[in-house]
Amino acid sequence: MKRILFVITLIIGSLCQWAWAQEADYPANYAKAPRFKALLVYSDQAEPAHVDFARDAIEFFHRLTYGEGWIMDVDTSFEKYDYDRLREYNTLIVINTMPATGEQRAAFEKYMENGGGWIGFHAAGYNDASTGWPWFNTFLGCGPFYCNNWPPQPVLLNCDATEGCPVTHNLPAEFVAPESEWYQFNPSPRPNSDVEIMLSISPKNYPLGIKDVVTHGDFPVVWRNKNYRMVYLNYGHGDREFTDATQNLLTLNAFRYIVSLSPDGDPFKK
Ligand code: ZN
Repeated sequence: MKRILFVITLIIGSLCQWAWAQEADYPANYAKAPRFKALLVYSDQAEPAHVDFARDAIEFFHRLTYGEGWIMDVDTSFEKYDYDRLREYNTLIVINTMPATGEQRAAFEKYMENGGGWIGFHAAGYNDASTGWPWFNTFLGCGPFYCNNWPPQPVLLNCDATEGCPVTHNLPAEFVAPESEWYQFNPSPRPNSDVEIMLSISPKNYPLGIKDVVTHGDFPVVWRNKNYRMVYLNYGHGDREFTDATQNLLTLNAFRYIVSLSPDGDPFKK
């Protein structure tokens, strides 16, 4: 009898171990090869503070490639990128420029209309009457550039996103962002039902500026247009933008979110 009980105990023990092994995934999934490619585009001919930001952004994103989890290509214009070349990239990280010619714009539009990814910083969203690209405003989800504070300064940001938003994940409800030149657009993207606003400049900051003073107005600074795989981040001026862990987390969250929505599947789950 004792022997039978012993055998039963052994069988039950083995079954438990087997069940545990089935449930307990290893706590990390290690990529065997780079998971995706992204293209960072910036202009080295822009105003010096925008080139400073570009240099720091390249360094920030380059550090995210450590371990070859993904591949980052860097270029100073859209000149070489027709639709087929853009399609090689999961996401475009656009710093302070935009497609310039009709040909470049057509390729970019086709890329975005077919599931392409875009993270645009600061001057990547700048547009005015001289830009002559109405599609871009539809894409951005708002009117053209309207005004800005000057000089660059830190601001108190409010989190507008609903709970569970991956871009504001683990961010406080409000925090002070590093000094930047902040662009206000008119009309604001807020009334656009295609847009999800994630962060705004708090009205508590008004009057905002020393030389150029913004006194009022709706001031969203991070949003996405739900019709595209895109997110716009309003900051990107000068060499202080990557000095704050909270904002760095926001940048990382935004990047990871856009990459994860690829029509080819979430590369982080592969
Ligand atoms: Zn600027």
